[in-house]
Amino acid sequence: MGKKIIVAGGGHGGITAGMLLSKNGFDVTVYEKNSRDNMGHDWTDIFDKKGFTAIGLPVPPQEMYKLKHDMTFYGPQMNTALVQHTPEDQLEIQMERRDIYSYIINAAEEAGVKFVFGCAVEAPILFGNRVVGIKTADGDKYADLVIDACGMYSPVRSKLPESLGIQNNSIDYEQFYVYRAFFNKTAEVEDVNKFKVLMLHQNKLGITWIATEEETTDVLIGRFKKFDMDEVNATIDTLRKDNPSIGTEIKRGGQFVNIPVRQPLGVLVADGYAAIGDSAFMTVPVIGSGIANSFKASKVLADAVINDKDGAYSAESLWAYQTGFYKILGNGLAPLAAVKLMLTRLEEGELDYIFDNGILNADDMTIGADDTNLASMLGGMSPADIKIKLTGLINNKVILKKVVRMGLELVRATVVTGAMPKTYNRKAVLKWVKSYNNCFKH
Ligand SMILES: Cc1cc2nc3c(=O)[nH]c(=O)nc-3n(C[C@H](O)[C@H](O)[C@H](O)COP(=O)(O)OP(=O)(O)OC[C@H]3O[C@@H](n4cnc5c(N)ncnc54)[C@H](O)[C@@H]3O)c2cc1C
Repeated sequence: MGKKIIVAGGGHGGITAGMLLSKNGFDVTVYEKNSRDNMGHDWTDIFDKKGFTAIGLPVPPQEMYKLKHDMTFYGPQMNTALVQHTPEDQLEIQMERRDIYSYIINAAEEAGVKFVFGCAVEAPILFGNRVVGIKTADGDKYADLVIDACGMYSPVRSKLPESLGIQNNSIDYEQFYVYRAFFNKTAEVEDVNKFKVLMLHQNKLGITWIATEEETTDVLIGRFKKFDMDEVNATIDTLRKDNPSIGTEIKRGGQFVNIPVRQPLGVLVADGYAAIGDSAFMTVPVIGSGIANSFKASKVLADAVINDKDGAYSAESLWAYQTGFYKILGNGLAPLAAVKLMLTRLEEGELDYIFDNGILNADDMTIGADDTNLASMLGGMSPADIKIKLTGLINNKVILKKVVRMGLELVRATVVTGAMPKTYNRKAVLKWVKSYNNCFKH
C-alpha cells in the first residue's frame, strides 16, 4: 500500500487531489461531516469547465450543464446598465452543485479513494511542528500527509500553531455573508435583465443578484457585514417592486452561507499539511468563484506530492505546490483583493459616478473563463476608453484619490506576491508572509 493521505473535509479540490493521488498508488481517505446525499448546496454554480480538463476528467455531458447567461450590472441609482458580452468560447458553465459533487466523488471512488461520510473533523494532530493526523468524532486518524479541504472555517487550519505562518482565520471584509433562495417565477423577463447584478444595492456594502431562470428566480444577497432574516425580507420586498418575476414561495435554497473574498492564504503548506480550496481562500476575491480554481490547484498539489520521491511531505518538498499555485493562479488573484478593498471604501454616490461616467464600462465587467487576473480583465482598452476614464477621474478628485490608492496597493500586492521565496526556508517564509498579509489591510 502507498503512503497514507487524509483529506480532511470533502471540499472540491481535496476530492480531486485525492483522486489524482489514488491513481498514482497513494492510500487516500476523505473524512466528510455530511452524508453523501447531502454534499454541497441545493443550487447551481458558475465556473470554468477547463477546471475538469486540468485534472484529466472529461467535461461532463452537455445535458448536465448550460452556458452562463451574461450579467447586467447596475449601480445603486440604476441609471446605467453595464451589459456583459462574453465571447461564446469564454462563457463559463452553470451546473448543479450536487451534480458537480456526484461527478467528482464517482471519479475519485473509481480511482480508489475511500470516503468516510458523517464524520466531523475536529482538529489537527501535531507532533512538534508536523501535522501527523486529525482528530475526528470517530477518533484519531494518522497519515503521512493531511490535505485540508474543510472550507473557509477549517478546524484544521484554524488550530495550527501561529509559528507555522499559516493565517488561522479571516478578518473583516475578507468574507461575504450570503443569503440565497430560489423563488417561484411569476413573470417573464427581457433577455438583458435575466441576470441582474445590483452593486451596493440600497447603499449597503455588497451585491444583490436576481437571476430569472426557466422555472425559478434566483435571488442572492451578499454583504460584508452579517445580516438577518428581517433585512432579507425587507430587501426582497423592495426587489419585488421592480422585479415581478420574484414570487413569494421558496422552491430551493433559503439559507445563509459564507464565501471567502480575499487574497489566497499566504502559506499553504507545513510539514505533513497542505491547504486547498476555500480552506486556502482560493476564490476570485471580487466575485467569489472557487470551484475551477480548486480543481486546477489540486493538479499542482498532486504533482508536488507525487514528485516528492522521499515521501517526506515536508513544507520544503510541498513548497513546489505553493509556488506552482501562485504561478498559475495566486499571483493573479492576490492583487484582485486590492480591487475588492477599493469597492469596500466607496461612499454613497461614488459607484454611480463611476458607472455613469464610463470609468467602468461594459467591457470591464465582461469577465470570461480565462480572466483570473486584472491584466486580462482590463485588457484591450481602447485609447477612447482610456480618455473617458481619465476625464471621469480628473473631474472627481475624491474618487481619483481612491483609485490612485488602489493602484498603489495593487502594485504593492503584485510586487510582494512575486517576491515569494523560491525555496522553503522557515525564517524567509515567515518574513515574506508578514509583508504579504500586510498588503491587504482594510
Ligand atoms: C452562495 C454561494 C455561491 C457560490 N457560487 C459559486 C459559483 O457560482 N462558482 C464558483 O466557482 N464558486 C462559487 N462559490 C464558492 C464555492 O462554493 C467554493 O469556492 C468552492 O466550493 C471551493 O470550496 P471548497 O470545496 O474547498 O470548500 P467547501 O465548499 O466549504 O467544502 C468544504 C467541505 O468540507 C466539509 N467540512 C467542513 N467542515 C468539516 C468538518 N469539521 N469535518 C468534516 N467535514 C467538514 C463540508 O461539509 C464541505 O463538504 C459559491 C459559494 C457560495 C456560498
